Amino acid sequence: MATAAQFTRLPHPAPTAAADRAAVLADPGFGKCFSDHMVCIDWSEDKGWHNPVIGPRGPIALDPAASVLHYAQEIFEGLKAYRTADGGIALFRPEANAARFNASARRLAMPELPEDLFIGAIRELVAADSDWFPTVEGGSLYLRPFMIATEAFLGVRPAKEYKFLVIASPAGNYFKSGAPAVSIWISDYTRAAPGGTGAAKCGGNYAASLVPTAEAFANGHDQVLFLDAAEHKWIEELGGMNLFFVFSDGTLRTPALTGTILPGITRDSLLQLAREEGLTVQEDRYSLDQWRADAASGHLVETFACGTAAVVTPVGKVADRTSEFTIGSGGPGQLTQKLRARLVAIQRGEAPDTHGWVTRLG
Ligand SMILES: *Cc1c(COP(=O)(O)O)cnc(C)c1O
Repeated sequence: MATAAQFTRLPHPAPTAAADRAAVLADPGFGKCFSDHMVCIDWSEDKGWHNPVIGPRGPIALDPAASVLHYAQEIFEGLKAYRTADGGIALFRPEANAARFNASARRLAMPELPEDLFIGAIRELVAADSDWFPTVEGGSLYLRPFMIATEAFLGVRPAKEYKFLVIASPAGNYFKSGAPAVSIWISDYTRAAPGGTGAAKCGGNYAASLVPTAEAFANGHDQVLFLDAAEHKWIEELGGMNLFFVFSDGTLRTPALTGTILPGITRDSLLQLAREEGLTVQEDRYSLDQWRADAASGHLVETFACGTAAVVTPVGKVADRTSEFTIGSGGPGQLTQKLRARLVAIQRGEAPDTHGWVTRLG
């Protein structure tokens, strides 16, 4: 059984030239450039996790019958490493990502990965690619751990071989427009049904969200919002972000984790920060009709989306096939900006870490 201490380190034969890397780091965008290294760890029934390697990033060989290519046995995580003001490197709540990764693994009938191996893999990669941090304001090194079923077998059952990998991508701002508030499209499609995989971070959920997301873009919006599958009435989440609502009496509301919503770590962190601010926080369902009515009456003053990639993003406009409404002034609200600033300051080591959320990598 592999442990974090046993990584084989393969030197990169031809790392990216410094000038090319500097050009990337000055304008990284999101998810389009990658660092020089990757981690790979194998799993088999008889050996468990074995052969942990940090080496040059590159294509991986898969048998064309590998289960992941046919039945989508795949899960992933997303977290960021930050350069702190004192020149160090910090991770934000990586244990929470490790725990969620294993919850996703259980739902997709995949083997769990010990937390020390998950975090050890990230440590190895960040150490190997420590000169891949963007130089732009708000930049970070986005880390993408994932697991795929590699066994060559077309029968339908959980695979008996897997690979866990971690790649890294320097990241600037998630939304290419850099717009202060996003516009969202309410989809007729649904994302997750009760008993389905909505609470697991698996690629299959994203595959199913691509048509509705393309529809949002075609209608001039930035993101898609999904309602619940049973009644098509209750607000669930965006394609890859959780939602929060702020009311004129200072109450903050977010949909409860009913099993069809992805339990965001940003969501959980903001709930804790808001409770500490003394805000009344409700994890409860909220209907589209009520949202529209509350926005019109002025009872609802802000709405924001949150997730690792975009952190906290204000929602300015909401539309479906027949109607459209604006939230507050259509721009970022006060509480949205305050919560965002508090969270970012903790993540970047600029505010005291009173929750034990920050892991320093040196
Ligand atoms: C990853 C993800 C989120 C946000 O989770 P964070 O842990 O905050 O990054 C929200 N919704 C979906 C569908 C996701 O996949």
